[in-house]
Order: sequence, then C-alpha cells, then structure tokens
Amino acid sequence: MKKKINWMNTLFLTLSPVVAIVGVGSLIWFNEIHWATWILAFSLAMLSGLGITAGYHRLLSHKSYEAAWPVRLVLLLLGAITFQNSALKWCSDHRRHHQFVDKDPDPYSITKGFWHAHIGWILYKEDEVPNYENVPDLLADPLVRFQHRFYLPLAVVTGLFLPAGIAFLWGDWLGGFFLAGFARVVMNHHLTFSINSFCHFIGRQPYSEKDSSRDSWILSFLTYGEGYHNFHHSFPTDFRNGIRSWHWDPSKWMITALSWIGQTKNLRRTPEPRILKSRLEMELLRLKRKSPNIPMERLLAVRTKCEEAYIRFCVMKQEYQKTKQEKLYVKMAELRTEMKKAKREFLQTRELWRNILKDSVSGLAQPQAE
Ligand SMILES: [Zn+2]
Ligand SMILES: [Zn+2]
Repeated sequence: MKKKINWMNTLFLTLSPVVAIVGVGSLIWFNEIHWATWILAFSLAMLSGLGITAGYHRLLSHKSYEAAWPVRLVLLLLGAITFQNSALKWCSDHRRHHQFVDKDPDPYSITKGFWHAHIGWILYKEDEVPNYENVPDLLADPLVRFQHRFYLPLAVVTGLFLPAGIAFLWGDWLGGFFLAGFARVVMNHHLTFSINSFCHFIGRQPYSEKDSSRDSWILSFLTYGEGYHNFHHSFPTDFRNGIRSWHWDPSKWMITALSWIGQTKNLRRTPEPRILKSRLEMELLRLKRKSPNIPMERLLAVRTKCEEAYIRFCVMKQEYQKTKQEKLYVKMAELRTEMKKAKREFLQTRELWRNILKDSVSGLAQPQAE
C-alpha cells in the first residue's frame, strides 16, 4: 500500500533547516548575533533536550521515576518547544517502539532502513488514526491532556516567539528567532532522531543482542545521555541510561539532583546483579560463537561464582547503608570488613573470568583452576 505524505511534517522538517541556515548565516555574515543570544540558544537546546529525555522519555514513556507537578509541567513545556509532537503522541509511538522493536509495528524500525528510522517515518501519514490505547495512564493526566490539546500554539509561542522576546531584551530579537528558535529546533530534532537511527546502528551490545539497540558514549554525549541505548532497551524502566558514575548522562544527573530537593522520587534502578548477569551472558555467548567446542563446565562454574560473589557484595552494601542510617557504628565496622572481602572475591573471579575468555579466544589455554 502506497503511503500518503504528511505535508505538514514534511514541509516543517525540510523548510526549518533552510530557514535556520539562511537566517543564522545572514546574521553571522553581518556580524549581528549578540553573545547573549548564543548563550540563550545553547541553554534552550540543553533544557529542551532534557524536556524530551527526562520528561517525554524517562518520566512519561517509561515511568522510571515520579515527579512533582511543577516539574512535570516544566518538562512538558520544554518538550513542546522542541516541535516533536505532544507528549501523548510521542510516548505512544515510543511505547510501540519498545513493544515491537525491529518489527513492522515499530514506528521507527531500523529494519526499514537508516533513513526511515531517522526521519522518514515522520514524513508519511500513519495507516490508522492513533487511538492512544497504550497510554491510558497519560490520558488520565490533566497536564498531559492540556499539553496535547494546545500543543501547536504552545510550541510556536514558547519555541519561536519566546526566544525572540527574550533576546529582544538585549536588542537581538532576530538572533533569538533564528538562532535560539529555528536553529535550536533543527538541532533538537536531529539529535533526538539520532537515538532512533544511530543508536540502533552503531556501537556495542554489552547487555543483549535480542534487538538492534546499541551503546555509544559519543552518541550519549550528543543526546543528553540517551546513547547507552542497549542498556536502555535491556532495562527500560531504569531512570538512568549511563549507569556508571563516569557515564555522560545529564538526564540522570538532573533527575537525581531534583530528588535531593524533593521534586522527584522513587527513582527506579535495575538491581546490579541483574546487570552483571546480562553482561556475563553476552560475553559467554560471544565466546561460544568464536570457539564452539570450548568445554563449558568450568566456564559456567566460574560465572556462577562471580555472580554469587557480586550478589553477596550488593547485599552487604545495602545492609551497610541501613546500619549507617541507624548509626550502628560497631556493626558498620564489621560490615565494612566483610564488604571488602566480598568485593575482593568478586574482583578476583571477574578477573579470572576475563582471563579464561581471553585465553579461550586466543586458543592459548583451556580454562584453569582459580
Ligand atoms: Zn530504541
Ligand atoms: Zn525508551
């Protein structure tokens, strides 16, 4: 069946880059952009990007944390200024993406090509009128309903006229309109689109190969922390995408910071042993692929030992936090020693596991005793 073009989306997505390039290019040529307008544009790009990642994505699509109504309202307004549709439509599409990833009903399935996943899917009309039956929780939210009803005027006023109005304060309304308005919207668009295209195309798959999602720190840097996409598809209800402290994930940092002042709560984290289990399973799967005849008994025993040591360490860590809150100092000292022991055991078995994998792949040796 031939798909009908969605002219409104097509015109906006093709003309907005032209307007941005011509407008910003002319202003730069005549040296007309005020330095404050650049700061405004970058701040708005960052904030509105977070409106999508922390708001539309992690809060509304996945319910990975709860937020007070002022936070929800601000995130909904920030989401609207990116011109990426209302939260209701965005989240409905995104939930279908997770439910049917890489299959036909996935709206931005990478299996239909890179171009389709990046932008092509938005240029055509949908086969059916969206019924939003996969977002009943959002339909029940008055703030989401309000944003859905007034999405277009909200997007135009807050996304284009508001930056122009702010920059008018220092006499650069044109810069505000073209740079902090149009150019920022174009940048927001293609950075978010990259999550659907590049993050299903390039990068590593440390947690699962069940779908095409991939992890890439470079993309995470560009997409407000969303580049750890293989982790996200494996554990979609985790409020983080980058789980290590050094992983670039401003969305996670913002959600955490808001929890310190009571504006967000119930931040959902995947239990660490589950994450380790997935990683080890993937490492074993890859080894079996490279060396199909490798004896499994020893390998599985080391893997189990590694997982058990880690569970022990995590349980002790939790207990330690509890005794710390209760200020039981003697028990804390005991637990600290036990925790160190469990951590050492885990690191030793993890190292042994890695050595076995390395040796097995290079064919240097069979698994050795620990
Ligand atoms: Zn995805
Ligand atoms: Zn998601």
